[in-house]
Amino acid sequence: MKWNDFSFFYADHVEVPLPEGHRFPMIKYRLLREKLMEDGIIHPSQLFKGPEVLDEDLLRAHTPHYVYALKNHTLSHKELRPIGLEWSEDLLKRSYVSVGGFVAATDSALKNGFSALLAGGTHHAHADRGEGYCVFNDFAVATLRLLDQKKVKKILIIDLDVHQGNGNSSILGKRDDVFILSLHGEKNYPFRKIPSHMDVGLPEHAGDEQYLSSLEKALGSIIFPFDMIFYQAGVDGLMEDTLGTLDLSFEGLKQRDEMVFQFAKNTPLAMAIGGGYAHPIDMTVKAHVNTFKTAKSFYSL
Ligand SMILES: [Zn+2]
Repeated sequence: MKWNDFSFFYADHVEVPLPEGHRFPMIKYRLLREKLMEDGIIHPSQLFKGPEVLDEDLLRAHTPHYVYALKNHTLSHKELRPIGLEWSEDLLKRSYVSVGGFVAATDSALKNGFSALLAGGTHHAHADRGEGYCVFNDFAVATLRLLDQKKVKKILIIDLDVHQGNGNSSILGKRDDVFILSLHGEKNYPFRKIPSHMDVGLPEHAGDEQYLSSLEKALGSIIFPFDMIFYQAGVDGLMEDTLGTLDLSFEGLKQRDEMVFQFAKNTPLAMAIGGGYAHPIDMTVKAHVNTFKTAKSFYSL
């Protein structure tokens, strides 16, 4: 398969208006999509709107109470607060198309070898509650769907967002047909981490060298026989990020992505962009664009 045959999915066709000054950078998703087209990295014909995820798929990873109470807006303020985003019809719809977009990306990656969602990586959502800007857990939903449908036998999750994926590990952390590798800032949220299959917590201000050697070592020690990879390519490890505690450079992030794509080689890989909160947000967008650029040069070989 050539790069031009790959399909990509997006979620920003459903906009969620946030109050002025809100910390969540809702704008980055549209900026990323526009920049990828402007720079000719993705052709418009390769881009598809994320379809709404089916409730039956959400229910593979989430409790019926959580899914239906969220839909009917009967969750209490206390239950909603950890998400950090105000409930609205738009937020609900956005969450459905974002998770649906990742599910579609996993199907597409299985077929073609590679695909990505220009959003997602909602790894803080648990079975019965959302948390940390994550309403539903896209990786958990897609993992359990592919395993239940017997489309794959073993899935490797590589989570390189600066925040540990406590939702991924609370839902999938004890399974033996899934392996989660999380490389994150030890001092970053979540402060109570739920164990993944392999957790590498890096100290504050860890730079490219320490990060890349830790990643290389971690990847090299995986003996789990995966047949599919989900990659959470968060760029909040960037030095300029306002939430991350690490000091990675653009070049370091590029080498990180290369290492992952090289490691994946002929294994189908589905990617979600994950977090990024630099100020100005253009730096985060640039880092996300670089991930796609790196993927393009790797998959065009
Ligand atoms: Zn993050």
